[in-house]
Amino acid sequence: MLLVGPSGAGKSTFAARHFSVTEVVSSDAARAMLTDDAGDQDASAEAFQVVALIVNGRLKRRLTTVVDATNLHAASRRQYTRLAARYGVPAVVIAFDLPLSAYHERNARREGRKVDEIVVEDHAARMPQALAELEGEGYVAVHIVGEDAADEAIVERR
Ligand code: GDP
Ligand code: MG
Repeated sequence: MLLVGPSGAGKSTFAARHFSVTEVVSSDAARAMLTDDAGDQDASAEAFQVVALIVNGRLKRRLTTVVDATNLHAASRRQYTRLAARYGVPAVVIAFDLPLSAYHERNARREGRKVDEIVVEDHAARMPQALAELEGEGYVAVHIVGEDAADEAIVERR
């Protein structure tokens, strides 16, 4: 399962509510493990290698796996859909499509690390294109979560 959305969208909150700790593979957590700083962008390349290694190992075992990262670029999503295809597991997207003000408000309310406003704006600007691209990427389902829907969402495992 790929979570897609800007920083502040509520991805990690959603993941924590609906999935167990070990089901969630997070780029922020990988950065933190590497550097003690979840926001250390200098560690991004290594962090995504760690994420890919864990996703590969989990999908090989056919375990439910949630990739908690912005996943706003087609190239990064493709890396995970390739792994899913390799192991014959279905890929699902949950995209968090909120107004820009909501990303800013939530990001400001976040405990711990806050992402620069300019970065949040850059992420938000990528959302329309990402949403358009998702249709053609072969997911078994693309769920769009809006501003209030996250509280009401029910995740069913099949
Ligand atoms: P991420 O950057 O996408 O992982 O976003 P987070 O999950 O860290 O959420 C950012 C902030 O928004 C946190 O302070 C959350 O408490 C808050 N938040 C997350 N989901 C919701 C939601 O569904 N509704 C509201 N009102 N706030 C939320
Ligand atoms: Mg997060």
